[in-house]
Amino acid sequence: MKKIIASIALVLVSLSVFAGKPKYVFYMIGDGMGTHQVLMTEMYLASMKGELGVSPLCFTQFPVASFATTYSSDSNVTDSAASGNALASGVKTTNGTLGLDPDGNPVTNLAEIAKAAGRKVAIVSTSKANDATPAAFFAHVPDRDWGYEISQDMIEHGYEFYGGSGLRNEARTHDKKPADPIRPQFEAAGYTICNPQEFRAGYRNMSKVLMLPGEGQAVTYSIDTVNDLPENRDKHVTYSDFVSSALTFLTQDSKKGFFMMAEAGEIDHACHSHDAATVIQEVIDFDEGVKIAYEFYLKHPKETLIIIAADHETGGLTIASKRSYHLARLRFQKHSMNVLSDMLKQRMITEKAILSWEEIRSFLRKELGLWDEINVSWEDEKMLRDIYEATIAKRDPGSAKDLYADNSKIVSAAVGVLNKSCRISWSNGSHSAGYVPVFAIGPGSELFGRMMDNAEIAKMIRKAAF
Ligand SMILES: [Zn+2]
Repeated sequence: MKKIIASIALVLVSLSVFAGKPKYVFYMIGDGMGTHQVLMTEMYLASMKGELGVSPLCFTQFPVASFATTYSSDSNVTDSAASGNALASGVKTTNGTLGLDPDGNPVTNLAEIAKAAGRKVAIVSTSKANDATPAAFFAHVPDRDWGYEISQDMIEHGYEFYGGSGLRNEARTHDKKPADPIRPQFEAAGYTICNPQEFRAGYRNMSKVLMLPGEGQAVTYSIDTVNDLPENRDKHVTYSDFVSSALTFLTQDSKKGFFMMAEAGEIDHACHSHDAATVIQEVIDFDEGVKIAYEFYLKHPKETLIIIAADHETGGLTIASKRSYHLARLRFQKHSMNVLSDMLKQRMITEKAILSWEEIRSFLRKELGLWDEINVSWEDEKMLRDIYEATIAKRDPGSAKDLYADNSKIVSAAVGVLNKSCRISWSNGSHSAGYVPVFAIGPGSELFGRMMDNAEIAKMIRKAAF
């Protein structure tokens, strides 16, 4: 028996030696996706089938699973710049910093290494294309808010494919001086700026791509995308749109392989708002993008490495639901908190009237299932009504400003009532130090099979793939 085990071990060792390095690397990052964000999503999916426990996503079934710490060089709790830096370059830095070590020295990231090795590179995000996580793969600046300078770094790096929900600071430098608009500079450098539909129609004639939503389009929360009318599908640009377009572009000619970083950036934002139903749909949407990478892996299993990671946990999420029906109650929420607030605003603008408490109540009944599907205690109803009296009821129907005012307080409190009924709680409105999950599949994935620090993930990808 020992002999057999020894020879199996020998075969495995020699296989790994001869397997070679993966040519194709997918680095898929969920912003704010802590272990509990993943767990809540899987428990929700089980709950929707009337089951307890979990119904697995695609990426949680990858053969290698682990977790990582995320602290930065100046805080136990990181921001997306410092964690992006660690995930991109393997060097921990101070919060807010991109592409520099804590002493201000430039560091080399995985995308730069891939490019130098002749591989094609795509960096995409459902947040802004020059936001912290993507920027960690091309920027070298002391402050993540230097959007204009970060965009210039994008152009200078010349990767084949960039994508995002937009660009920050398109015509204004970090010291708020007006500057030449950035989009013509991308075009002068050979980039075609296009939306997913334009990309599909003409990508064969494009040499480099900057994918952004077009007129009338936006990267919306997935909960708002999936609950919109089918005829409005093209108004929404999704995580999968970015992943599939980037993959199409990179594989046109990928003899030397490619490196793709694809961030799902809005999980974080939904967690900052404590909007559990929206978080779940964002994680499901992320998984849909992972499936595209996984299908590619199935065609090229010996040459493809997929790493799933996250930059930090957001919100200090915990789940205490004892019964399957608790989490399934989140299905009654059909839109994100942002859109719900806007829907109230639109009604008040159209009707030129401040909505009554009864109207607000019936809106929350219809949009969140409160009272009808979810028991609302006397105390919670009083709390909601008090917020209504202190905010909306005080507005002047004759004032355009009041009609356009923000309704997020009442919506946020009502979503809070729904979350509470599902036994979901949030411990803070910002990031936490919580562990983040790491999953891997493909050659080199075995390196990730132990507890890690986030900076090690980049070092391991380097070791595995370059
Ligand atoms: Zn955040």
